[in-house]
Amino acid sequence: MGKLFVTGFGPGNPENMTYACRQALEAAEVIVGYSGYVDLVKPLYPSKTYMDTPMMGEVERCKEALAQAAAGFTVAVVCSGDSGIYGMASLIYELSETAAPGEKAVEIIVIPGITAAASGGALLGAPLSHDFVTISLSDLLTPWELIEKRLAAAATGDFVLCIYNPGSIKRHDYLQKACDILLQQKAPDTVCGYVKNIGRPGEEAFVTSLAQLRNTKVDMFTTVFIGNSRTREIGGKMVTPRGYFHD
Ligand code: SAH
Repeated sequence: MGKLFVTGFGPGNPENMTYACRQALEAAEVIVGYSGYVDLVKPLYPSKTYMDTPMMGEVERCKEALAQAAAGFTVAVVCSGDSGIYGMASLIYELSETAAPGEKAVEIIVIPGITAAASGGALLGAPLSHDFVTISLSDLLTPWELIEKRLAAAATGDFVLCIYNPGSIKRHDYLQKACDILLQQKAPDTVCGYVKNIGRPGEEAFVTSLAQLRNTKVDMFTTVFIGNSRTREIGGKMVTPRGYFHD
């Protein structure tokens, strides 16, 4: 019986890949993932067997990974960032629950990775030093009404927000719609930031206001940060005070 690692490899640069992730990829005979992600790890481990067809959906890919592990191979399913945060780890467990007896017995090992909130936050400064929520604006798997409800609830609680999947070609106005909901409760000058292509060519970080963010075009390689009422700009960085008293 093989092992199935589910591992996030961080934002994309090798320095931000954890040691445990590297060990899992070294141990793996078969590496499975979306081709855009697999392209990032292939140069590090060129001699592995890859299953990375762009056409295959997530469910089919994860089923195939379980089948390969049940057949005795050591398999790694790769995701960007962390595999448990908008990643494949939950789907692997769900599929193993209903799988054939052989696949049910596969040992699943989740390896943590540096999620975009952490890697993007570091580039912006220290935006997540107090209570925060992550919300994905993708309505492919979640009804938009529920996303709206969660945005409003986060604003009511004065949480810092970290927004994943803020937009794409099809969903070009979703960030604008989200900002409009937040602006009902948050000040237009709330300090915000966004980071593009973390750990990849074209990496860029911007600090802005909520009013300006509303009119900003973002793509699917962007993570957005919206401050709480105490978040400030310090030397061009986005900083949410932890609350320490100091001079
Ligand atoms: N499992 C991933 C998240 C996958 S959802 C993680 O833990 O980071 C995909 C979204 O994550 C993207 O739309 C973007 O908002 C964010 N993201 C992931 N990698 C990124 C990167 N290298 N640069 C900027 N944003 C990234």
